[in-house]
Order: sequence, then C-alpha cells, then structure tokens
Amino acid sequence: MRTDWEVLTKEHESWEKCARHYARYTARNVSYFFLCDSCTVLLVSNALNNRPALYHGDRMQGFCGLCNELTDVALRQWFMCLPCYNVVAAYQKGFTSAKAVHAFWRSSIAPLAPSLSLAETDVVTLSPYVRGGKTKRQAAELLDTADFLVSEKVDGNVAPKFHIELKAGPGAVDDMSAFQLDVNDYNDIVGPVLLTGLPAYVFHVQIGMEYFPPTRRAVARNMWWTDMISLRSSLTKRAQRRDEVKAALYFDPKCFRPISDFPNQVTTRAYEQMAEELRRVPLAME
Ligand SMILES: [Zn+2]
Ligand SMILES: [Zn+2]
Repeated sequence: MRTDWEVLTKEHESWEKCARHYARYTARNVSYFFLCDSCTVLLVSNALNNRPALYHGDRMQGFCGLCNELTDVALRQWFMCLPCYNVVAAYQKGFTSAKAVHAFWRSSIAPLAPSLSLAETDVVTLSPYVRGGKTKRQAAELLDTADFLVSEKVDGNVAPKFHIELKAGPGAVDDMSAFQLDVNDYNDIVGPVLLTGLPAYVFHVQIGMEYFPPTRRAVARNMWWTDMISLRSSLTKRAQRRDEVKAALYFDPKCFRPISDFPNQVTTRAYEQMAEELRRVPLAME
C-alpha cells in the first residue's frame, strides 16, 4: 500500500474548492470514500483533475468504494460539491449493474446463442465536471446507442440486432407500485430505437449494499426485463414531479418479467418480430 500520497494543504489553490470541478468552484463539503490504491489513482487522474486528497487514512481491509473488491482500502477525503459527490458515489453502483449484465450474458445467453455478442456502448467512465459538456441526457436526440448493443455475426458479417438499456435501483420490481422514469430517460431509449430501427429491451437491476463496516459495496441482487413496446403500452400516469421541472412517467411494473425468461427472447428471435412491430407502434412521448 502506498504511503507517499501528496495531500492538499491550505496554501493550495484548490483548498475548499470542488475537486471534480475543473474551474475553481467553492466547496467546503468534505467527501469521504474508502478506496483501494489503484482506484484512488484512477479517480484522481480521470475525475478529480489531479487534485490531491485532503487526507489518506490508515490501511484496512474492506470493500473499495469504486471497484467493490474486498481488499486493502483507506479512507480518502476531498473537497467536493454535493452534485459531484453524488456522481462519484454512484460509480460503484454503475460498475456493479453493468457487470451483472455481462455476467448474465456469459452464463445464460452466450451458450444458447454463440453468434450473438454483447457490447457495452455507454460504458460508465470516470470524468470530471465539465461545464456545458454534452451529457448523455442533453445529447439524447443524437444518440444512436443505448447502454448495450447486441450484434449477430453470420459468415463474417456483423449485424446489430437490438439495444439494451440498463436501469438500476434499490427496489425489486415485484414490490413496486409503479416503475418510474423521467421523460428524458425514457426518450434516451426511444432515440436509439428510432435512429437505428432496432428494438430495445430495458433491464432493471436491483442494487443492494453489502456492509463491511465502515466500508460497503454494491451488489446486484436481481434482474428483470421488458421491451419498449410492452413498456410503452404499460404507461399508467404522467405527472410533474414535486419540486422538479422534469415530468415523470409511471408504468405498470407487471410489464417486467424475471430475467430467467429472457433467454427465450433470444432462442425465438423475438427481437426480429419486434423490429417489424416498431414500424407501426409510436414510442415517442413528449
Ligand atoms: Zn478499488
Ligand atoms: Zn463539483
């Protein structure tokens, strides 16, 4: 474990400035993360503008707050504004949910359909806060990929077949009274469908936390799936969220099915029929 970490001092120009904001942005909030050495280096160079931490604690065994491994970690502190803290704290869950999709594919789909390949097209990447930077949300209408793209290789030719959009949350679909999506998030899925003419599935990964105090890691507990045509026809309510400008869409969670039913979609090539159906069913919502 490294001990030669540079730490931020009061004289540093980034003192009481958000580490993730590239421009100097006052932030007196101190964020806490338990991280392994390599994740600390990654985070600092890719997301924190090479700003030194305020503090590196003693080594201890625990779950890394980025890679989720049980390993040697240490408490690290940075000045960080709350929105940036939320982004950095969410990486742990983002990595876990993407990993769950890859693992499901390897164990349940690859043996059934070896000609299909899964590519992660919107990889969770560590990045600093860039003002005016095009986020996925803002670029939605230009987006031709969702989170994953499944392609088929036949006689050396690779043809894209369908998209998979990944949603993660603490809830089990079985316990939900409604599956909720912002209109923007919904249209992030519709955009690639309309641009490519390929159908899309939505996977919901239930993410829970496992504790090894004072550390914790994200774990994927369960997974469900639906397709965009089923989702669209399960809309029950459209409402303005309280205290928010964004409109939210509410869907009947019964349109989601256990992930153990998904391999059937692949063996019956249901996505090909769905591509036909998409030409008749309007998906977009304002
Ligand atoms: Zn790590
Ligand atoms: Zn910030």
